[in-house]
Amino acid sequence: MLNIESIRAQFPILSEKINGKPLVYLDNAATSQKPLRVLSAWENYYRSYNANVHRGIHTLSQIATEEMENARKKVQRFINAEFDHEIIFTRGTTEGLNLLAYAFTSKLRPGDEILISHLEHHSNIVPWQMLCERTGAKLQVIPMNDSGELDLLAVDALITEKTKIVSINHISNALGVVNPIEYIIKRARAHSSAYIVIDGAQSAPHLKIDVQAMDCDFFVFSGHKMYAPMGVGALYGKEKHLLDLPPFHGGGEMIAECTFEKTTYAALPFKFEAGTPNVGGNIALGAAVDFIEEIGQQHIAKHENTLLHYAQQQLLSLGGVKIYGQDALRAGVVSFTLEGAGIASDAGMILDKLGIAVRTGHHCTQPIMNFYGIAGTIRASFAVYNTLEEVDLLVEGVKKAKKMLL
Ligand code: PMP
Repeated sequence: MLNIESIRAQFPILSEKINGKPLVYLDNAATSQKPLRVLSAWENYYRSYNANVHRGIHTLSQIATEEMENARKKVQRFINAEFDHEIIFTRGTTEGLNLLAYAFTSKLRPGDEILISHLEHHSNIVPWQMLCERTGAKLQVIPMNDSGELDLLAVDALITEKTKIVSINHISNALGVVNPIEYIIKRARAHSSAYIVIDGAQSAPHLKIDVQAMDCDFFVFSGHKMYAPMGVGALYGKEKHLLDLPPFHGGGEMIAECTFEKTTYAALPFKFEAGTPNVGGNIALGAAVDFIEEIGQQHIAKHENTLLHYAQQQLLSLGGVKIYGQDALRAGVVSFTLEGAGIASDAGMILDKLGIAVRTGHHCTQPIMNFYGIAGTIRASFAVYNTLEEVDLLVEGVKKAKKMLL
């Protein structure tokens, strides 16, 4: 059993009052709160050893370099990558996906296909559309069904020799649905030579990730959804692919030698890390990994599942609540609308007055909203520090919102 009170005590923001009420923070799929050890790792860097990394011969630069490279090793262990140079620090999932879409440009020909799914975040749609525009490749989409699940029969038909990239999210941010990526990866390996990209923005905070067992080629995620600061994240890539692909950004740090005639690129991972990195943020990402691993991903997943199922059951008991993906395998998210209660943001504003933070709207997944013919949902999303009492407050709040809006 987790000691949630002692976990909560590590998050100063959780004792804030919002509109005179204790904060009930249920917007974790948008961004999680940060524990003291992450805040102090970040602050300690700026207070005690702020310096630019790599190539510095002075002591502070060496400490900063060592700490950042240590954080890279933590991330490597966190997702079970084979080598630490397979971890590229990024600004987050969006940058990771754009890096890949750019790097694949020379690999595609007109008529090639890129396969995504109907359940993607815009950041796993738009970079691929831009890549299609550059290369003449075609975007293919695995359809979803009413239950919020991917149509697996369609997967079989859509993966062919023409498929050059498969990019799928592990967990949908809008619905919380856990996609059968193991199945999709197996089919992709059997019937194509596609690069396989997994958008792990929502799974890295909730599930134990093992990129080698998963057998993906790339895995991208954001630090800020897993207790680390904003503006940091990681791209994992298999060594052979990272060696083969061209860099995304050009600049300092990423060169071996630079002349006006020709520039050669640095070894991995630096080839993909042009410019001064977010040293303090990357170090704090390492601290977030420590935080998660100390609690244990299995314990986190179990606790969040308990919250999710309790929330679902209680919300349904109110009547007039429609939960999207209700029967699908889900993690961390309950996404719902109130029948006849107008737009989701009205309910969101009422909940805010009660100190309850949820997200309302399309959650950067307009194709999912279009599929259901709605403008948006109310989304409550959980983290390890949330409690059953907070779910009760949410349900009470929704009850009030229903009364006021109907
Ligand atoms: N993919 C998914 C599934 C997400 O949930 C998010 C963030 N909502 C992103 C991609 C984009 O992440 P970021 O904004 O941190 O780059």
